[in-house]
Amino acid sequence: MSFTAKVKEEIIKKSVHRKGCCNYAELAGILAYSAVFKESRDGVVLQIVFENADVAMRCYNLIQKLFGNIATIEKKQYSTRHTLYKIKVADIRQLLQNVGLTDTDGVAFHVSPDITSQKCCRKAFVRGAFLGGGSIADPEKRYHFEFVTTHYLISEDMKQILETFHIHAKNVTRQSKYVTYLKDSETICDLLTMMGAYSCVLDIYNTKIYKEIKNQANRVTNFESANITKVVDASIRQVEAIRTIEQQRGLESLDPPLQEIARLRLQNPDISMLELGQLLTPAIGKSGVNHRMRKLIDIADKLR
Ligand SMILES: [Zn+2]
Repeated sequence: MSFTAKVKEEIIKKSVHRKGCCNYAELAGILAYSAVFKESRDGVVLQIVFENADVAMRCYNLIQKLFGNIATIEKKQYSTRHTLYKIKVADIRQLLQNVGLTDTDGVAFHVSPDITSQKCCRKAFVRGAFLGGGSIADPEKRYHFEFVTTHYLISEDMKQILETFHIHAKNVTRQSKYVTYLKDSETICDLLTMMGAYSCVLDIYNTKIYKEIKNQANRVTNFESANITKVVDASIRQVEAIRTIEQQRGLESLDPPLQEIARLRLQNPDISMLELGQLLTPAIGKSGVNHRMRKLIDIADKLR
């Protein structure tokens, strides 16, 4: 199941309206974001096509509940994977006007003040819009949320409605469709919370925390392995130098401080110079060890 389908399922389960006004607003949202006008033998009909059975039934039930028997629904199996649900309504003008999507002259397709003036209805409209033409990317991959409509004015209205909830979205035109989108995970969570998709918000937070821990773990591991590599590389060079001296003229030929550090290094090839210095009595610092090691490498270079 896609993340979009999951959000839609949760919205449908959670949003049982107490107020009648919100039923109109939600239906308006669904229609504004999914309705297409088609010529047919009966004149122009409103055709709404859904891939999601739950959304189709939600839309159909809302129309029946609010306006009686004015719509028909049919199911079409296109392939084993794709089933489309078509809802047809003959008297489009009446329906659009009743849900507040057109003026009395029926020209403009925009959201009426009946919907935008009430907070409960603005939320219901946004929920409907998501059911009709919204999608969200899988949060494990990226953060992207969008509403897509074929009506320019609707997308402008949507942007403003979201602003009233302090959600700042952007609008863009894509292949003669109008897209209102969000890319910030925090804002997407705010919007999902507003639509009532709480468990999907938790999913996003969990994914985010998991990603952060994984990144942090990677950083620590990289840091440690980089350091280990450095220690090992340095030690290999030092041991090679000491072995050269040992073979060519014996470690006894060295001054006591150099002899001491050379023997310690041969016994402890896998520790850092800092740790090596602490094994001496009295202990010396990392730079002291480094100084002695450079002398040993110089001597070995000359012997080679
Ligand atoms: Zn309302």
